[in-house]
Amino acid sequence: MTTNAELFERSARIIPGGVDSPVRAFGSVGGVPRFIASASGATVTDVEGRQYIDLVGSWGPALLGHAEPHVVAAVQEAAARGLSFGAPIEGEAELAELVAARVERAGVRPVERLRFVSTGTEATMTAIRLMRGATGRDLIVKFSGLYHGHSDSLLVDAGSGLATFGLPASAGVTAATSAQTIVLPYNDLDAVRRVFDERGDDIAGIIVEAAAANMGVVAPLPGFNAGIIDIAHAHGALVTYDEVLTGFRVSECGWWGLENADAAEPYRPDLMTFGKVIGGGMPIAAVGGRAGVMDLLAPVGPVYQAGTLSGNPLAIAGGITTLRLADATVYERVDAASAALRDAIGEALDAAGVAHRIQTAGSLFSIAFGEHDGPLTDYAQVRASETWRYAPFFHALLDQGVAAPPSAYEAWFVSAAHDAEIVDRIAAALPRAAAAAAEARPPEA
Ligand SMILES: *Cc1c(COP(=O)(O)O)cnc(C)c1O
Repeated sequence: MTTNAELFERSARIIPGGVDSPVRAFGSVGGVPRFIASASGATVTDVEGRQYIDLVGSWGPALLGHAEPHVVAAVQEAAARGLSFGAPIEGEAELAELVAARVERAGVRPVERLRFVSTGTEATMTAIRLMRGATGRDLIVKFSGLYHGHSDSLLVDAGSGLATFGLPASAGVTAATSAQTIVLPYNDLDAVRRVFDERGDDIAGIIVEAAAANMGVVAPLPGFNAGIIDIAHAHGALVTYDEVLTGFRVSECGWWGLENADAAEPYRPDLMTFGKVIGGGMPIAAVGGRAGVMDLLAPVGPVYQAGTLSGNPLAIAGGITTLRLADATVYERVDAASAALRDAIGEALDAAGVAHRIQTAGSLFSIAFGEHDGPLTDYAQVRASETWRYAPFFHALLDQGVAAPPSAYEAWFVSAAHDAEIVDRIAAALPRAAAAAAEARPPEA
C-alpha cells in the first residue's frame, strides 16, 4: 500500500509543495494531506483506505454529494461521444439558459447573456476586462479579504490561500497592476462613497463576492450589495457580483436570489460570475450579465476572450445534470444539514468553554474563535480572531474520520448527501475536537 506520507513526499519532489492548489498542502494546520482515491455521497476515501466524512465538497461543487450517479452517467455518456471538439455544441445554450432562468426575481433577470470558461479565475478576469472595456477606465475596486481567483489584478489583499498563508499580495504582480486595484474594507459603504467621490471618474467598476466566504464566512450587511451598485452607477462605473462560490449553493438562485427573495425591486449587478456548483465537479465557470456589456465580447465586440476547452462537452453535461437535479428538495436538505451541524458545533464548543461565533451566509458557515460582540463584518476582525485554535480542532476531527476544511479561513461545505446519520457521526466527534480547541495556546509572539 502507498501511504499519504509517501505520496506527499513523491509529489513534493516534482510538484511545488506537492499540490496543485496551495490550501491542499495543510500548510496552516500542519500534517500530511490525505490523497483521495475515491469519493461517494458525503464521504471521501484516501489511498490508505480510510474513509472520512467530507466537509470540503471540492470547495463547493459537490452540492449533490460526491459521484452523484446521474451526473457521473451524463459525463460518461458525453465522453463516449468525444472529449472536445473546439466547436459549438447544443448543450452550451441549454446550460446557459438553465443558469439565466434561475437568476430571476420579481421579473428582474440580470443574466441576459452568458459565456462559459473553464475556471472561476477566468470568469472574474473576463469580468474585469469587460468593465474596463465598457467604461474606458482603468481602476478596479475590490474588498480586503475577498477572493476572486488568481488573476494579477485581483490578487491584492485577497482571501482563500492568501489569507491562509497570511500573504498581503502575490510576488510577481507588478506595482503598476497593484496600483490599479483599490482595496477597501468589506461592508464599509462610507469607504466606497469616499473613494468614488475622489476618483469616481477613473473607476471602471467594483468586484465583490455576493457573500464573502474566502476569509471565513462574512455575510454582507443589509443594504451593502445594493449600496455599492447605487454608488458605482451614480459614477458611471459597473459592478461584478462574484457568485462563483455562492451561486446555486446557498439557494436555487444563489445569494442574489436569497437576498432579493422578498424584494419588490431586486438590485441589479451589471455582471455576475459563476463556477463551482455549475459544473458539479467538472471544470466549468461562466461570466454573465447585461446584454449591453456582455455583447462587447468578441466576436460581437472588441473585448477579447477565448478558450480551447471552453464549453467542454463533458463539463457541459455535468453542469446540465447537476443544475437539473438541484431542486428545492436539495436546498432544503443542505440547509437542514448545515443548521444541525452548526448547532452541534455550537453545543460542543459551549460545553468545552470555548468562546466562538459561527459565521453564516445561507448554508455556508465558518467558526470564528474568541469573544465577539456580534457577527464579524470584515477581514480585520477575522484576522484578530483566535485562528490558532483551529489547527488542533481540525486535527482532532480528522483523527476521528471527519475532514473539515484545512484552514480557518475557508467555509465549510455540506451536501444533499449529508443526512441525519452523517451529522450524528460528526456530532460524536465534536467533543474531543472542542476539548483540543480549548487546550490550544496562542503562538509565541
Ligand atoms: C473559487 C473562487 C474563485 C476562483 O475560481 P477557480 O475555479 O478556483 O479559479 C473566484 N471567486 C470566488 C468567490 C471563489 O470562491
